[in-house]
Amino acid sequence: MQTPLQFCPRCKKDVAFVAAAGARTCPECGFQYAVSEPPNPGSFPDRPDRAGNPWLQFLTIAGIVVLALLGAGALLLGILFVGCALAFRG
Ligand SMILES: [Zn+2]
Repeated sequence: MQTPLQFCPRCKKDVAFVAAAGARTCPECGFQYAVSEPPNPGSFPDRPDRAGNPWLQFLTIAGIVVLALLGAGALLLGILFVGCALAFRG
């Protein structure tokens, strides 16, 4: 797992903050700031940027399903159209 670089306001550098219980620490200067999300004992979140937003995940999944249905419908219509065109021509 790779820690994304974040800007440290004290040493004015992009550093990989060390995550501790409820806070993150800059390895360069020791600057600490509290994390808004509660500590998660037992399970470490592997995707912290996507966690905590189930509505966005639902919208993404719903959009993918709608797109897939539209694609399948368009494919069926295309097959029907080509079939009818060939039938009426022949
Ligand atoms: Zn720092």
